[in-house]
Amino acid sequence: MSASVTVIDHPLVQHKLTIMRQKDTPSGQFRTLLNEISVLLGYEVTRDLDLEDVLTETPVSQMTGRKLAGKKLCFFSIMRAGDGLLQGLLNLIPSARVGHIGLYRDHDTLEAVEYYFKAPGKLDQRQILVVDPMLATGNSAIAAITHIKKRNAKNIRFICLVSAPEGVKALQQAHPDVPIYTASIDERLNEKGYIVPGLGDAGDRLFGTK
Ligand code: URA
Repeated sequence: MSASVTVIDHPLVQHKLTIMRQKDTPSGQFRTLLNEISVLLGYEVTRDLDLEDVLTETPVSQMTGRKLAGKKLCFFSIMRAGDGLLQGLLNLIPSARVGHIGLYRDHDTLEAVEYYFKAPGKLDQRQILVVDPMLATGNSAIAAITHIKKRNAKNIRFICLVSAPEGVKALQQAHPDVPIYTASIDERLNEKGYIVPGLGDAGDRLFGTK
């Protein structure tokens, strides 16, 4: 069975995403909007996290409160554009841990080669949220999740802002146990691997590079 795909079409997400898509939106505003949207995406992605009862003393009486259960969850950024989603998510869950993975494509073998990996311990006991703003061909998301699973991670969700139907299908096939959350499934990929209509190169727009 394929992984579920949730399109987070909250009006605020759609409004902010439309401004991000506009080609004249400057990097600073693009970054701010990605920050704001990542809070809204994070809110939806975490709505079914496990809770545990906690005996709590308010200034007035005792009660049974509820807090997140288990080990601290882990946001996993696919570098470099994934970093644009981290701050908003950390504002939402400041105690979360953060992992980074960097991959490049070998021109000869076309394999995704890992050049950077840093993660907190006990990945097998954590809810992992892998983040990258764009799910285009799906190659980097698939490779990143494969590498993260090799370190024993079991409970993984993938969050992106804009996806192409081709990437969603490829990721579902490669990792049917990984639910996908996205703000939009766009029309298609073009011949250069860009999402149409998309928003261009997310990393360049985020960091003002070309
Ligand atoms: N990566 C991007 O940043 N944009 C795309 O459209 C596709 C991949």
